Amino acid sequence: MIFNINTMETIFKNILKTKKVYITQNRVDLLKTFIQSDKLLDFGILAHTLHPDMDRVIIFRNLNLFVHKNLIMKIPDVNGKLYYTLNNRKDDLKQVVEVVIFCDKCHSIFWSRRKNRVRISLPSGFSNHTETIVVKGTCRDCK
Ligand SMILES: [Zn+2]
Repeated sequence: MIFNINTMETIFKNILKTKKVYITQNRVDLLKTFIQSDKLLDFGILAHTLHPDMDRVIIFRNLNLFVHKNLIMKIPDVNGKLYYTLNNRKDDLKQVVEVVIFCDKCHSIFWSRRKNRVRISLPSGFSNHTETIVVKGTCRDCK
C-alpha cells in the first residue's frame, strides 16, 4: 500500500486524536519523526532534526506530553542518558524484556522487545518488575 503525504498526515492526526492529544503541526511533525525512525532518538537528535522549525522548549514539552499519553516511552542508556521511542507495545508489561542495542562505532542505539524473560538469579526476596538487556557491538552499517 502506498500512502501519499496527505494520507500520512491524516494517519498521524488520527493517532494523536485517539490519544486525546490536541493536534498541532509541531506534534504531527514530532510524531512523524518517531514513526519514520528505526533508531532510538534523544533530545539532541530531535532538536537537530526539528529545529529551527520547532523551538527546543516546545520539543521538550511535547516529548513529555507524548510520554504522559503513552505515545512514546523513555529508555535510559547505561550512563543514564534518556532516549525516546514509539510506545507501540500492546503486551503485558510484566512479560516484556526490553533490549537496548548499542553500536560502538557510530553510537547508534536500537531497541527491541522480547517476550521471553532471561533466567537471571536475583538476590533472595527480590522481586523484579522490568528487565532491560544491554547489548553492545557493531551495527550492519559499520561492518
Ligand atoms: Zn554502527
